[in-house]
Amino acid sequence: MPSQPAVIEVAVPRPLRRTFDYVLAKGARVPAPGTRVRVPLGRSGVVGIVLDVRDSSPHQLKMIEQVIDDEPLLPPDLVELARWLAGYYHHPIGDVLKTVMPVKARRGAKAEPVGVVAWQLAADTSHADTALARAPTQRVTFDRLRQLGSTADAELAAFGIKRQSLAALLAKELVERTTVAPRYETRGSQVEPTREQATAIAAIIGSLGSATTYVLEGVTGSGKTEVYLRVIAEVLRSGKQALVLVPEIALTPQTTARFAERFGATATLHSGMTDPQRFDTWLKCRDGSHKVLIGTRSAVLAPFADLGVIVVDEEHDGSFKQQEGLRYSARDVAVKRGQMLSIPVVLGSATPSMETLENARRDRYRRLRLTRRVAGRSMPGYRISDIRGERLDGGIGMHLHRAIGAHLDDGNQVLAFINRRGYAPVLLCSDCGWQAECDHCDVKLTYHRQPRQLRCHHCDRRRPIPRECPSCGARDFVLVGTGTQRTEETLRARHPGVPLYRIDRDTTRSARRLEADLAAIAEGKPAILVGTQMLAKGHHLPNVTLVAVLDADGGFLSPDFRAPERTAQLIVQVAGRAGRGERPGEVWIQTFDPGNANLRALIEAGYPGFVGCERQRRESALMPPFVALAIVRAECPSEAAALDLLRRAAETLSGEGLELLGPAPAPIARRADRYRSQLLLLARRRRDLHLALDRLEQADPRARGVRWSIDVDPLDTA
Ligand code: ADP
Ligand code: ZN
Ligand code: ZN
Repeated sequence: MPSQPAVIEVAVPRPLRRTFDYVLAKGARVPAPGTRVRVPLGRSGVVGIVLDVRDSSPHQLKMIEQVIDDEPLLPPDLVELARWLAGYYHHPIGDVLKTVMPVKARRGAKAEPVGVVAWQLAADTSHADTALARAPTQRVTFDRLRQLGSTADAELAAFGIKRQSLAALLAKELVERTTVAPRYETRGSQVEPTREQATAIAAIIGSLGSATTYVLEGVTGSGKTEVYLRVIAEVLRSGKQALVLVPEIALTPQTTARFAERFGATATLHSGMTDPQRFDTWLKCRDGSHKVLIGTRSAVLAPFADLGVIVVDEEHDGSFKQQEGLRYSARDVAVKRGQMLSIPVVLGSATPSMETLENARRDRYRRLRLTRRVAGRSMPGYRISDIRGERLDGGIGMHLHRAIGAHLDDGNQVLAFINRRGYAPVLLCSDCGWQAECDHCDVKLTYHRQPRQLRCHHCDRRRPIPRECPSCGARDFVLVGTGTQRTEETLRARHPGVPLYRIDRDTTRSARRLEADLAAIAEGKPAILVGTQMLAKGHHLPNVTLVAVLDADGGFLSPDFRAPERTAQLIVQVAGRAGRGERPGEVWIQTFDPGNANLRALIEAGYPGFVGCERQRRESALMPPFVALAIVRAECPSEAAALDLLRRAAETLSGEGLELLGPAPAPIARRADRYRSQLLLLARRRRDLHLALDRLEQADPRARGVRWSIDVDPLDTA
């Protein structure tokens, strides 16, 4: 009897909530799940992924055109993870796989590492001192490379290594290029772990090979990174690999450098890489030649030959959540992956998220604490600066201005934190009250002085500053509110001799500029730093003794349910930059609302105090982590169509154990000329939420021009 042809289930890279079946040509080798195949779809051919192989099918099926890989491109655990992602986030499986695969893999490129060029010191460098005597820049590069070990071409920029210096060093035979596999060799640590560090390290190492999630709750500067490094050293010793997720790589090259120094090499995955670089790194993680991968969000979807541990540093950071397409949380996916692979996952933060703390409280995660800063350095003291009735200059009250002057006079550095870039958030006509607004979004335009223009912070459109009011013709404008540029201007005028560094998205387009600024700041001379949340990210600023939070109210009073949490985290993180050196630090928080319960709790009992207060508020308001939340969003050039689709969605969704809020226009209803509406779905039991979303996927409502999406565990409701 002729055997039935095998039926191959294939996920195609289309946003379709279904898969397709194909058959193989006679005699062809049956591809395993995870293999790429070229298949006909509609009138074109696409690269799909084999998900399953079955015996036969009643339908007439099209034939697979080509089996691309000899070995499956995606290892079995990644195929399983992709299925889980599609189910949990209610996202089309083909689109999930598109997110999982690097661009080159999607296009069908051969799965062979291309042998990316790496740089390392030459075997004989005895002539270095003479050869570099008059070349200080080359000297810096040489020393850097000595610390880092072999460094891939793709990572030079992240470590601030200039190609010209490398070329010069190559000519002097001090460095060499190589295309062989990266050379990992663990070097000993310089420091003796504190007792708390030792406890944490022992606990995690003791559970290697089992699926335990740890919350490493360590105040800023308590030595969390040293814990990661020692755990990873042990993982590498047993021949396994390690994955470290970080919020941002370009902004914190020092962190990556510390890993590279300890392990002799390191691989990174981040948005600044080219497609071939990404694919090469991805393949080298898959075949096991990379041992340590440090990456942003998407690195959690990389393949590994034998992964031994996952670290999520700054686990509370919002950048771990993807905000479009497959809206996954890299932190939560990391925990899931740890469970699938039976390996420990370490979630580290000075300010763990409410979700993570609740999971710890319910004994799903194990809590490890580092309560003290290393080397006995003290934590900064907080003080509230009540600015009711005070005259503000550059967003700063008079008392704070005096304190800034005093710290600078003492030879210290000062950090002013204001989470708003530009000069002023509102331009207003003083005659008629007209305000500059974006023509394409429902928001005010921000006034920028460098360069002088009005900018929309939502669609990035720019407009010249009007000479006269478009509404009444008057020429008197008022600039309301303060952004970093205005604070910069004020502080420059008041302290003309003191260097000032403004650090926000407008000044740090290039990582190099930021690194140069940080290097100048590290010299320790009196200086003023003005910046947004970029300043809160992991930088070590030992000479800062005064941190001033200029506008805490904006965050605590925002309507989004997660805004207080985010604000408290920012304040603690930015405060953690202070007093990391020999000198103790102080933190001033300006507020018009000194009685605010969240703020008081934070000041009086630190982040844990804030969490206690916020927990109660979330529990009584029935917000996550006490309920499961999803948002269904729709957007369209017309407001009515989006709302109408969501009304139909609401009918499909409603059911036992569920609460629906909306549909209603989003807080910023129009953005880049598209109207956005949303529907909130809350459930006491997560299972009910998923069942309802399954129904919605089945119904798959459609309307002309309307795009809709499901966001499970959304970051914010805005
Ligand atoms: P965190 O990641 O918690 O902010 P880090 O790991 O960056 O803290 O540590 C802060 C500083 O303390 C680093 O310069 C690190 O080298 C140093 N350090 C860490 N652990 C120890 C230790 N046990 N003894 C001395 N110094 C340490
Ligand atoms: Zn006017
Ligand atoms: Zn706009």
